[in-house]
Amino acid sequence: MNDLPKLLEAINFAAKKHSTQKRKGADEQPYINHPLEVLNLLINVGKIEDYNVLIAAVLHDTIEDTETTKEEITELFGADVGEMVLEVTDDKSLPKAERKQKQIEHAPHLSRGARYIKLGDKISNIRDVSENPPDGWSDERRLEYVEWGEKVIGGLRGVNENLENYFDELVAAAREAIEKPQIQNINQPDQPN
Ligand code: NDP
Ligand code: ZN
Repeated sequence: MNDLPKLLEAINFAAKKHSTQKRKGADEQPYINHPLEVLNLLINVGKIEDYNVLIAAVLHDTIEDTETTKEEITELFGADVGEMVLEVTDDKSLPKAERKQKQIEHAPHLSRGARYIKLGDKISNIRDVSENPPDGWSDERRLEYVEWGEKVIGGLRGVNENLENYFDELVAAAREAIEKPQIQNINQPDQPN
């Protein structure tokens, strides 16, 4: 169903929930830029037209990162959206390493909608890790993040060629961007002044 008013309501809801949060990059962008980027990717790269998926994409980090419950989302946006957001929500009671391992293990069991959202989420985060990384992250940690993202996405492929190709191109570009400065450093002594 074409439900643009509901999607705008979800954008408004997410903007309020994330209003005090910033992304971890040096430029400290408002957090809402990230769910909006995921929405943009799903519509303009993935050509996804299912409004429940688009609404869940906008809300994808609300349960994990703000005081929001699945029940609240279900009441406002319906059970399908509530389920999808929960599917892409980490269990924050677990240690970080375990959460990351669980994302890899759960990827093959995600619904189609949740797979689209994961693709958009990993594209947005890997772009940030490449272009605007969290403060203090070494190149090694940035590359580790890219590799982990590849493992998660490896478990859910075959749902959207456009998003998957976009992801692959971004990963290649991110690798080059992160590794290149090191190559330049290694080559420096041999280069003419
Ligand atoms: P975090 O989970 O702490 O940070 C990454 C997450 O932060 C993203 O998935 C994204 O999630 C959110 N985020 C917000 N802003 C940005 C941004 N600008 N760029 C990228 N992500 C952003 O980090 P890790 O994924 O590294 O998880 C911790 C793991 O790292 C642990 O398992 C630990 O073992 C390991 N580690 C490795 C180190 C190393 O040097 N190799 C050092 C320390 C820990 P969202 O979509 O939810 O916003
Ligand atoms: Zn996210």
